[in-house]
Amino acid sequence: MPVKVWREVVKMQRSFLWGGLSIRKRICWVKWTDICKPKKEGGLGIRDLRLVNISLLAKWHWKLLVESDELWKVVVAKYGVGALGNVGLEGLNPRPISSVWWGEICRLDKGIGWFSQVAVKKLGNGNSIKFWKDVWVGEQCLAQRFSRLFGISVQQDEFIRNVGSWVNGEWRWGLSWRKNFFVWEQTLVQELLDLISNVAITDADDGWIWIPERVEGFLVKSLYVYLDRLLSPQNQRTSLENFAFNYIWKSGVPSKVSALVWQLFLDRLPTRDNLCHRGVIRSDDVFCPLCTMEVESSRHLFFALSVCCRDLVRCFEMVRSGYGASA
Ligand SMILES: [Zn+2]
Repeated sequence: MPVKVWREVVKMQRSFLWGGLSIRKRICWVKWTDICKPKKEGGLGIRDLRLVNISLLAKWHWKLLVESDELWKVVVAKYGVGALGNVGLEGLNPRPISSVWWGEICRLDKGIGWFSQVAVKKLGNGNSIKFWKDVWVGEQCLAQRFSRLFGISVQQDEFIRNVGSWVNGEWRWGLSWRKNFFVWEQTLVQELLDLISNVAITDADDGWIWIPERVEGFLVKSLYVYLDRLLSPQNQRTSLENFAFNYIWKSGVPSKVSALVWQLFLDRLPTRDNLCHRGVIRSDDVFCPLCTMEVESSRHLFFALSVCCRDLVRCFEMVRSGYGASA
């Protein structure tokens, strides 16, 4: 789905949420990214279309990694062999032949590179995994983790299969260097050897692991959860707040009441202070019309309704009942 389209759909979702079918422009009291959070985190649990869209596009990218060449003949013919088995597609977007679909897949993790963090090589025989440049042990590639050693390696572009050999049925690493080590570099080499010594090289072909869901493999849902943490702002709430937000929707009261309490907890009700903050009313109009003493805020109306206000209401009722009695 092109960016323009999902933005338009989200706009429609927002105006429906706050204004129903009315065509009048209404205030959207809560940020859309907050509304898309789960209910127990203070949101309404609405799916974030932007993240759903990215997750679905990523599914295509995952297929290009793990499925056979036969199925993707057309893609290879159009965009080259680099389109298959490659976590970084950013450079493979030749205009003007690129379709919108392909362009979106290539730009999927632009600038952040999250895809290579969730789709990592699973080592088999090491025929297709680069020793230094692919992520296959730990969470980053060895060229990053041991940049000093990478600089003096003569095997910078080699596949794992060529960085060692089988001797009497046992795998032996054979790392080669451009120069002898300084003493402090020897510690680094030992650290590297310790790291790779426990990794098993087998007869099987190399594969891919989907980090968010290692057992079941790629699931749109698992990516959605991952992207929500990575790309949308997180609210730091206490466990008590999470409990309260969750309780609002499980308390069994009518949903309109739940919605009111939800807005109250977030302090997003159309109280005078909030309306003033959004420029709807003037700053000299923010005072509570009952007591005219304090600013009309959620706290004032619902939790700390000042004594003067309560007294005022009581007086009003006394006067009314007094009139009733004398009449
Ligand atoms: Zn008042």
